[in-house]
Amino acid sequence: MEILVDLDAIAHNVRILAEHAADAAVMVVVKADGYNHGAAEVARAALAAGARELGTTTVDEAVRLRAEGLTAPILCWLNTSDADYVSAITAGIEIGVSALVQLEAVAAAARQLGRTATVSLKVDTGLNRNGIPATEFPEVLDLLGRLVGDGTVRFRAIFSHLALADLPQHPANDMQRQRFLDFIATAKEHGLEPELAHLANSAAALTRPDLAFDMVRPGIAVYGLSPIPELSDFGLRPAMTFRARVLRVKRVAAGEGVSYGHQWIADRDTTVALIPAGYADGVPRPLSGRFSVWLGGARRTQIGRVCMDQFVVDLGENEAGVVAGDTAVLFGGEPGHPRAQEWADTLGTINYEIVCGPRGRVVRTHL
Ligand code: PLP
Repeated sequence: MEILVDLDAIAHNVRILAEHAADAAVMVVVKADGYNHGAAEVARAALAAGARELGTTTVDEAVRLRAEGLTAPILCWLNTSDADYVSAITAGIEIGVSALVQLEAVAAAARQLGRTATVSLKVDTGLNRNGIPATEFPEVLDLLGRLVGDGTVRFRAIFSHLALADLPQHPANDMQRQRFLDFIATAKEHGLEPELAHLANSAAALTRPDLAFDMVRPGIAVYGLSPIPELSDFGLRPAMTFRARVLRVKRVAAGEGVSYGHQWIADRDTTVALIPAGYADGVPRPLSGRFSVWLGGARRTQIGRVCMDQFVVDLGENEAGVVAGDTAVLFGGEPGHPRAQEWADTLGTINYEIVCGPRGRVVRTHL
């Protein structure tokens, strides 16, 4: 079983995002191994298509991209105070700072190396997750001012993250925008002017040009999945196809049950196909009996329980010409193919979680 990642789709999606961004730059978010699409390959394709910068969560993810030969600016933003800042600074990674202790740790690493660390401040404008709260901002700025003054730190950006960007007209977006402007003003009052400011994720980048500031920071849209599926697909092309080859085709007589618990019982003689992919591979068990695959030129209903390594689909009374070795598409972007979005809707989750699913034994290939 395998996932195919279409890098032309990544490039197409980046171009759409760049059009929406207008004068703002595009930072492509490649955390979690590029939302499971392969961080380095996605990064290369995205940069070639016009993206300027890369975003990750951890220092390790960022340093790995440098080791892969990526020279673009890379920001990592979810860092504990004991993260490996020495490696980050050595690799020229921009460090997202969201607490005073963290800035102290970055400064200590910079002094140890005798190098200047590049720092961006992640401020909390209302997500109430990571980020510097307004109450702690002045003391962070005081320290930052001293560190910029003695050359320990270069101050690159102020950035923040939206809580309700998938509801573009929600007043929380305007509230966060105003708070963001207030943070920037406070920094300026401390004599600290960021080189740039950024706030928008995919949803905001595609719907709220007034939130673009100097750079947008899309993730999910780069991979071709809509951040607001109930609103639009925004012309994006899903980059990931998840597929597996039929292991065997067999007859099941009327009255026979299929898979653990006999949750599905044949009401007629039928033919079924066994697909060797299961919940250990990113086919969630709660999807049992609730999805279909593209096989033999049509949608085939999955029947019975999804197991750890396999599931079964019903081909109907005739074999439909399907034989062992044929390819079943679990989800993909071609017309007729099931979409990752369908799995998300069925499971009551978001498309992000679905594409992060395939793992372990699943082989990933870039097209
Ligand atoms: N910026 C930050 C700080 C994030 O944590 C994320 C992802 O959660 C993104 C941008 C990209 O968000 P999305 O995938 O919704 O575009």
